[in-house]
Amino acid sequence: MLLGLGSALKRAFDKIAGSIFLDKKTINLVVKDLQRALIEADVNVALVAELSEKIRGAASEEKIKGKGIERKEHLIKLLHDDLLEMLGGEKKELDVKGKKKIMLLGLYGSGKTTTLAKLALYYSKRNKKPCLLGLDVHRPAAPEQLEQLGKKANIPVFIDKQEKNPIKIYNNFKKELNSFDLVLVDTAGRHSLDKSLIEEIKELEREIKPDYILLAMPADIGQAAKLQASEFQKACNISGVIITRMDSSAKGGGALTACNETHAPVFFIGTGEKSSDIETFNPSSFISRILGLGDLESLVEKCKNPQ
Ligand code: GDP
Repeated sequence: MLLGLGSALKRAFDKIAGSIFLDKKTINLVVKDLQRALIEADVNVALVAELSEKIRGAASEEKIKGKGIERKEHLIKLLHDDLLEMLGGEKKELDVKGKKKIMLLGLYGSGKTTTLAKLALYYSKRNKKPCLLGLDVHRPAAPEQLEQLGKKANIPVFIDKQEKNPIKIYNNFKKELNSFDLVLVDTAGRHSLDKSLIEEIKELEREIKPDYILLAMPADIGQAAKLQASEFQKACNISGVIITRMDSSAKGGGALTACNETHAPVFFIGTGEKSSDIETFNPSSFISRILGLGDLESLVEKCKNPQ
């Protein structure tokens, strides 16, 4: 997952840590490495330019009082903090205490149904009692798919293959759903966010009153994630995003940073096709992981003892 980005960023960090003089030439090389890595990960060019300027500015002698080591430490910290901010800063978590309902939205093929099963498994492992409710009445294979996924993960599934009105399906199962403390609702997709989809979602929202409305969005759409997230946010009041297929796209960096710009927090990332392939999204540990280091301290340590 974004391994290219990780190793390229690591090279940039290492260049700072290992340099004897943090001169203009070194800074330029570091900035070039960074730019290449971020643009390859599909991060928005304007964001990359902004980060480059910050690094150049911070590296200039006038701005940083300290000498040699302090400057390198400072620069590494600044680079880390800026990357963190680009990815959303603090980790945001769903509050699933007590009884909660989560409704998942997404366009066709966004990974919605798969992600719901992942969420069910994720929370069942964390002492919740989830169930799946299939309200995707448009895609004929969706209820069947949900049923299969639920069966595999041992999660109860409520579907009605005949009924085409999602509100009716919900009302018919309402009583039974009450015995679960986490109801995960699958909804119908479309090719794009059209009027009929918005209306359907609004109606479901009024009737079901979900605690969270999340949007499943594939990593392959890269920077287009920004527009999609903000359109869904405006029209359907989404609480946040789950980025799917992070494992299979080099554009994941674009999707992640674009979502952050829309203030639609990314709560989870999908990292494979299996129901267990889901992770909470924690920008800080994400950076540590793609950089392949436990924490920032080892780099700071390296600044003090460059090889
Ligand atoms: P839906 O139309 O939104 O319900 O989409 P599906 O749940 O049917 O997923 C569409 C395709 O994406 C399926 O082939 C899934 O196996 C695949 N998929 C979903 N999430 C992930 C993921 O995180 N990683 C990978 N590699 N594939 C995924």
